Amino acid sequence: MKSQPIAIPVCVLIVLFAATALPTALHPATPLEKKIQALTDKLTPELIAIRQDIHCHPELGLQLPRTSAIVADYFRRLGLEVRTGFAESGVLGILKGGKPGPVVAMRGDMDALPITEETDLPFASKDRTTLDGREVGVMHACGHDIHTALLLGTAAVLSAMKADLPGTVLFVAQPGEECCDGAKQMIADGVFKDIVPEAFFAYHVDDTLKAGKIGYASGFMSANVDGFTLEIKSDGCHGASPNLCVDPIVVGAQIVIALQVMVSREIGVHDNTVVTVGSFHAGSAPNIIPRSAKLEVTVRNYGEAQRKVLQDKITRLVSNICEAAGATFDLNYQFGTASVYNDPALVLEALATAARVLGGKSALVEQKPEMGGEDFSYFGTVAPAVMFNLGVVPPDRDTTAVHSPTFVADEASIPVGVNLMANIIMDHQMKPAKNPKKK
Ligand SMILES: [Zn+2]
Ligand SMILES: [Zn+2]
Repeated sequence: MKSQPIAIPVCVLIVLFAATALPTALHPATPLEKKIQALTDKLTPELIAIRQDIHCHPELGLQLPRTSAIVADYFRRLGLEVRTGFAESGVLGILKGGKPGPVVAMRGDMDALPITEETDLPFASKDRTTLDGREVGVMHACGHDIHTALLLGTAAVLSAMKADLPGTVLFVAQPGEECCDGAKQMIADGVFKDIVPEAFFAYHVDDTLKAGKIGYASGFMSANVDGFTLEIKSDGCHGASPNLCVDPIVVGAQIVIALQVMVSREIGVHDNTVVTVGSFHAGSAPNIIPRSAKLEVTVRNYGEAQRKVLQDKITRLVSNICEAAGATFDLNYQFGTASVYNDPALVLEALATAARVLGGKSALVEQKPEMGGEDFSYFGTVAPAVMFNLGVVPPDRDTTAVHSPTFVADEASIPVGVNLMANIIMDHQMKPAKNPKKK
């Protein structure tokens, strides 16, 4: 898990931001930029075809035999060193540049969702699978097919420029983002055992921005996905004699309200927190006080310190309310995926590249952190990391909701993402080392 990052004061950020001198107007492209653009343009039809093929044949969780084989074969054809089997289907492609330099990584996640596609795309998924005994459709409704195409495209462009590339680039194709903390498992399986990046980059598609726009947040970008289950226990008794037993429904109701009061009265206004009781089950008839009430709750917040504060407050609140009512209980509190923290210095560095490559700051949209979860956070424990949001809203729509059966992504975003990431990595690799060794 990530330790609490050190907050960079606003004044320092302003100085850093000014120092990067973001260009506001188009500038003549450098020879390297022209080369990256030309390679991207040439590759785009192939990348779109690969994306459509992956979209048409989505796979769930950690078991992605078809998708990971496509990725591994592509990397091999580029001449990358390929390692497989991390988190079952994860693939590592290693590109060694022609000049000395640091190791940097890019991540693309590959898994789909158990959603039945309802688009009329010619390459819409018709695939179905059985999940928990139910037959469901499978769909790339979170844009991970686009992420995979971006990973392959960036690898292809930088491979073609190997002679100009300092250092090493790791291309990390990850399974199981939606369900299984695949990033954590890839690390546990030793993906960086003998080659550790010093910076990590990724994209996620953004369902609020048009293609050509890049969204970013400095600092926290997604939330800790924590939560708990709670069972309040009673001996049960007749509904007409409530004095004879603890009523777990009333105790549960008190806890539901107390959780909301805790958020509004005990949590600082800038410590964004959401506590949602998403499930509350108890009872079978109007005249029976049941023997238990079960609650399932999600708790969202940012940073390691705050998640522990919330766990302590919630444990105290549940214990005290149950004790006051004379109820016994089982509380199972769990820390899930940690919040993604975008390293502010790396954000500024990449934004300078983005402003230059995308023709000015107007393509860059500063965004508020989200309360959703993203397991890219685990790669942020390996190295300073940045995840950018890539606009994919089609021109004829105002929005395109991820995780919905009608999600569609504008493929014009693919060359935008590949061109930008190849430039971000090339710039990062060509940057003078922070602490050059003294001669
Ligand atoms: Zn998703
Ligand atoms: Zn996603």
